[in-house]
Amino acid sequence: MEGLFAVQAEDVLKGQLDHRRANLLERTALAAAEAARAATDVEVEGLGLERLERVRRQNRYEGEVAAVEARLAELDEKLYGGGITSPKEATSLQDEMGHLRRRQDDLEGQVLEVMELVEPIDARLAELATAADEQDGAIAAARGALVDAEAEIVREQAESDGRRAEAVAAVAADDLVRYERNRAAYGPSTVVGFSGSDCSGCPSSMPAVEADRVRRLPEGTLADCSECGRLVAR
Ligand SMILES: [Zn+2]
Repeated sequence: MEGLFAVQAEDVLKGQLDHRRANLLERTALAAAEAARAATDVEVEGLGLERLERVRRQNRYEGEVAAVEARLAELDEKLYGGGITSPKEATSLQDEMGHLRRRQDDLEGQVLEVMELVEPIDARLAELATAADEQDGAIAAARGALVDAEAEIVREQAESDGRRAEAVAAVAADDLVRYERNRAAYGPSTVVGFSGSDCSGCPSSMPAVEADRVRRLPEGTLADCSECGRLVAR
């Protein structure tokens, strides 16, 4: 019966290894590292859109500044190029130029304002680029740790499989079939010991008649406990 207990011990170990594999802290750590990286991407994308909007505004103001400058140059040429025939026309030109210069100041102020709004975004984007590099490194390290932890479990499982195969070779085929059939219901206590008066899988005492029946069986027999349904190794 030792062989069957050995098989059961390896099956219990397999359950533990499967549980360990499903709940590896290394997997949780990798997920956290990937989530942090994804959050960085989301922030970068949001800032990128904001930056684009501000740069477009800046470009628009700069375009307007250029147009105003061109118009001023044109008027300046007209005013001092000798093409003016009346003082009234000169006054009108100067008025328009004055108006355009005020508009130019105004636009240049707006260009500076938008540029100042882009600066903190660029600073934050630089920080995020550094953070992303660090996070990529953390993800690689976490992935490596997970691969190592999984490999260790695979190694332990392979060793266990080897021991189980050896143990199975020493178990009667019929006993093994009965063990496999009962395993789903009784798990780690599918096959249990017999104390001489009690099945060790039973929550309460075995009736005397049943204990007597089991006791009389030859050693090496696998009995069905009529109380709990487990396999009792005699
Ligand atoms: Zn029992």
